[in-house]
Amino acid sequence: MTEPLVSRMRAFGTTIFAEMSALAVQTGSINLGQGFPDTDGPAAMLDRAVQAIVSGANQYPPGPGIPELRQAVSEHRAGHYGLNYAPDGEILVTVGATEAIAASVLALCEAGDEVIAFEPYYDSYAASIALAGARLVAVTMRPVEGRFTFDPDELRAAVTPRTRAILVNSPHNPTGTVFTRAELTAIAELCQEAGLIAITDEVYEHLTFDGVEHIPLATLPGMRERTVMVSSAGKTFSVTGWKTGWICAPAALITAVQTVKQFLTFTASAPWQLAVAYGLRNELEWVSALCDGLRHKRDRLMDGLATAGFEVLRPSGTYFVQTDIRPLGFSDGLELTRRLPELVGVVAIPTQVFYDHPDRGRHFVRFAFCKKDEVIDEAVTRLKRLSA
Ligand SMILES: *Cc1c(COP(=O)(O)O)cnc(C)c1O
Repeated sequence: MTEPLVSRMRAFGTTIFAEMSALAVQTGSINLGQGFPDTDGPAAMLDRAVQAIVSGANQYPPGPGIPELRQAVSEHRAGHYGLNYAPDGEILVTVGATEAIAASVLALCEAGDEVIAFEPYYDSYAASIALAGARLVAVTMRPVEGRFTFDPDELRAAVTPRTRAILVNSPHNPTGTVFTRAELTAIAELCQEAGLIAITDEVYEHLTFDGVEHIPLATLPGMRERTVMVSSAGKTFSVTGWKTGWICAPAALITAVQTVKQFLTFTASAPWQLAVAYGLRNELEWVSALCDGLRHKRDRLMDGLATAGFEVLRPSGTYFVQTDIRPLGFSDGLELTRRLPELVGVVAIPTQVFYDHPDRGRHFVRFAFCKKDEVIDEAVTRLKRLSA
């Protein structure tokens, strides 16, 4: 048989996460690759899901999502950010942020449109844009004084008459950058000048450190009306397997996205929706404690990686630390991460796979710190053998 996969998806093989996680299992390595926590979410929220199942919340929920969750999201947005979204019409529950982003791109971008994203970028963006027949235009983030950022002139130069939307992920995976108000202002001004829609991926909105606060792009002047604000429960509550996300946006944008979403999945799982509504209303203190714990883990891993000889870049948010591998005498992160399991029994992710210009990320490797302290310590002990 000839290649059955449609041509627009042929550039997308199995993801690096599948490859590296399989390697971790095969070699018995410690997996600091994929960013999932190795501890559970808040117990009462897990109980709420069980209770939802045994008490019969097992049939199709309404297409836009269960009203209780839409209400809880609305209250959370208002309470945290002063953003008002009507539960009825301005909020759509999705199967994780991944579906929210895919449905938004499919609903809002014509074939041939251009979508700007900052590289390194979360891998589903490129696939969603390709599925829509649109074109990803990557603006590169580079370390400046130990923190990844973009050049506003390069961003401006990336806009063409075909540009339809910009994907903005802050706190940013995989660099750990939390965009400042100045960076967001540059993005916001460009969106308004060029008439762009902003699709924001804010799944790490609660996971920021050192007093750095997440600022939603929709809170900047003139941005609420043109922003599709995406978040989800997975990272906030350490339930990445629940795949429950949501979009907040003006009604016309929500209607457009829902038109696509209804034929992808129609609706999202009922029990998780009820449990996440409970979480948003009752477990934000648990989330603060999670965040404090993650800050310690970040520092623990950063110290260890520095001792092992990596140059370490300090993240202000997310679960991830970027390292420059050149001080250890390596130059290619993909080569190194493929050998790392056999060399020392640790799995990490080569950052270059998240670029359209892989040479710009060749010397970076990403490590996740959302792991138990003893797992981080053992990984560090092993990584120290690299320079021994
Ligand atoms: C984990 C992650 C997602 C996916 O979120 P789900 O709710 O699991 O679909 C999206 N964007 C970024 C940047 C992520 O790290």
